Amino acid sequence: MPRIIIAIDGYSSCGKSTLAKELARHLGYRYIDTGAMYRAVTLYFLRNHIDIHHPELINDALQHITIDFRLNNDTHQQDTYLNGENIEHEIRVNQRVAGQVSDVSAISEVRRFLVKQQQALGNEKGIVMDGRDIGTVVFPQAELKLFVTADPKVRAQRRLDELTSKGQNTTYDEVLANLTKRDHIDTTRDDSPLKQADDAVLLDNTLLNREEQFKLALDIINQKIKATA
Ligand code: C5P
Repeated sequence: MPRIIIAIDGYSSCGKSTLAKELARHLGYRYIDTGAMYRAVTLYFLRNHIDIHHPELINDALQHITIDFRLNNDTHQQDTYLNGENIEHEIRVNQRVAGQVSDVSAISEVRRFLVKQQQALGNEKGIVMDGRDIGTVVFPQAELKLFVTADPKVRAQRRLDELTSKGQNTTYDEVLANLTKRDHIDTTRDDSPLKQADDAVLLDNTLLNREEQFKLALDIINQKIKATA
C-alpha cells in the first residue's frame, strides 16, 4: 500500500487533532500537531516578553527556539518540547497562550520558520498533519485533504469539557469567546488564512460522535489510498 500525506485543516476545537491522532495510529503513520508548534512559539514569546510588533526582535527570538515531539510512555501520545522542556500541559491549559496564539500565528516570520520545519517532516510519506494551512500552504500536493468543521456552540462545549477534565477553571462563555476570536483572526489574516483547499473533502462533525467521524474519514482515506496504488 502506498504511504500518503494526509492534511487536516479546520476551525479551532473542531476535533481535528483527535481525528488526526486516531487515523495516524490506525494507519501506522506519524502524527504532527502544527498548532502545538504555534503554541510553543507563543509560550516562548510570553515568557521572554517579546514585543511581537518588532520583526527584528521576532527573528532574533526564533533563532533561540527548538521544538520537537517525543513519545510519552505513559500516555502513548507525543508531547511537545520547547528547548528540551516538556511544555505539553502548559500550552494546552494556559489561557494566555490560547489568547495570544492567533496573533503570533499571523506573523509571517513565525509562519516561515515553522512551515519550513513542517515541510521537512513530510519528506518521508506516511504522515498525518493537522493545522490551518496544511492543505493550502504546507502540503498543497498532499494526496488527501480533509477540512473539518462543526457548529461553534458544539465546539465550545466540547472544548469546555476537555479543559474541565484537565482541571482548568473556565466558563462556556469564555471558551466560546476565545474560539470565535481565534477563528476570526485565523480566517482574516493576510498570510496563509484558514480556508478550505479547492480539493479538500469537507467533514462537518456537528452531529457525529468520535467513532462516526473516524469511520467516515477512514472510508475516504481508504478510497484514496486504493486510487493511488
Ligand atoms: O490547533 P490549535 O488550536 O492548537 O492551534 C492554535 C492556533 O495556532 C490556531 O488558533 C491558529 O492561530 C494557529 N495555527 C496556525 N496554523 C497552523 C496551526 C495552528 O495558524 N497550521
